[in-house]
Amino acid sequence: MSFTDLGLRAELLRAVEEQGYSTPTPIQRQAIPAVLKGGDLLASAQTGTGKTAGFTLPLLQRLSAGGRPGARQIRALVLTPTRELAAQVGDNVAAYSRYLKLRSHVIFGGVGAQPQIDAIRPGLDILIATPGRLLDLHQQGHVDLSRVETLVLDEADRMLDMGFIHDIKKLLRLLPASRQNLLFSATFSDEIQQLANGLLDRPTMIEVARRNTTAETVDQAIYRVDREKKRDLLAHLIKQHQWYQVLVFTRTKHGANRLAEQLDKQAIPAMAIHGNKSQSARTRALSAFKDGSLQVLVATDIAARGLDINELPHVVNFELPNVAEDYVHRIGRTGRAGSEGQAVSLVCVDEHGLLRNIEKLIKRDLPKHIEPGFEPDPNAKPEPIENGRRGGRQSPRNTPRQGKTEGGNRNDNQQRRDDKPAQQRRRRRPQRSRQA
Ligand code: AMP
Repeated sequence: MSFTDLGLRAELLRAVEEQGYSTPTPIQRQAIPAVLKGGDLLASAQTGTGKTAGFTLPLLQRLSAGGRPGARQIRALVLTPTRELAAQVGDNVAAYSRYLKLRSHVIFGGVGAQPQIDAIRPGLDILIATPGRLLDLHQQGHVDLSRVETLVLDEADRMLDMGFIHDIKKLLRLLPASRQNLLFSATFSDEIQQLANGLLDRPTMIEVARRNTTAETVDQAIYRVDREKKRDLLAHLIKQHQWYQVLVFTRTKHGANRLAEQLDKQAIPAMAIHGNKSQSARTRALSAFKDGSLQVLVATDIAARGLDINELPHVVNFELPNVAEDYVHRIGRTGRAGSEGQAVSLVCVDEHGLLRNIEKLIKRDLPKHIEPGFEPDPNAKPEPIENGRRGGRQSPRNTPRQGKTEGGNRNDNQQRRDDKPAQQRRRRRPQRSRQA
């Protein structure tokens, strides 16, 4: 099957061809005809499956057949949990719509609102937004959501994890009753099911990648090593195998900074990306990483969630995540849309329990290696891990979900501050002046 068979118009086919896509991915094959028909959609699909083009292409086709938006009106609204995902969806929309006369814009917190207000003023065919900033702009009268024809909730599970449910409910009340709804979620908790039940009308159901199955195209390996030797082993592996575009995960922002600095000192260009970095620093790091000038990007889970980096060859877990599901999300950064990838995890004696949990979740034993010169001390004693620092009270063997250091948790709260539910942000900044 080709994109032409899916009934897309010539302008979209041309843009798709320029992206180098020859065949639609499974989710695209199912989602594109369903969205074109105008019905609702409930899709279980993770990042890396081609889901963005799956909803964007038919959305653009439908919008191109309709009228123009009035002042401050929005015709299609895409809500995303994070700034990075919003920016990526925006990039996709811009790429696929380049031969169509449609206006789109991306808005999120953490940056000045005025350019966003200016962009919305004449009306937009597509607005891609994080919920908090959108509510703020709506409350200030800068955006009219009463004419939305299609609503997309992207990574809905993450939005709920990040505490956006009240913002989403408020936004839903601002939309017209009759509209198309598309809901994408990697997982289906009761909460998501509830949201879907209230939102969707006889939706087409699509499930492309089952939850917690790791991509077949990712080659996964474990390196056993002492905790103090991890940094040197990582530098050694990167140099020895000449890895480029390596995405390295650490548990904490502080750990990410420290590791990036140390790699840099060893002549391996590296930068850290996490919620404490300014938006411009994050954008700079990401674009240097994408264009290949930055060899290593060190990231915390939330910063990496939804990053769209084409055919990322290497993912390294410098530390295993406390929550086994996050391992699946992390390695989902590589081996995307059919390309091959490699995921390497550096595991010290403290993390054997976490490793067992991951292997149980993905239902397979991962191959274990020991790199000559980095043999672990067989007498090393495990130490408890808490939020990535040793010496804490929590045991890694029974660290519960709330022990996570990312997302809806304690340690990396800056991202949440910027994209935080509007109500909470207002409480923090009662004196904020309105922007005209
Ligand atoms: P997504 O799941 O939307 O984040 O997309 C994952 C990656 O796959 C993105 O880098 C897309 O550019 C790429 N992609 C999307 N559709 C296709 C396709 N039909 N063929 C090849 N790559 C694709």
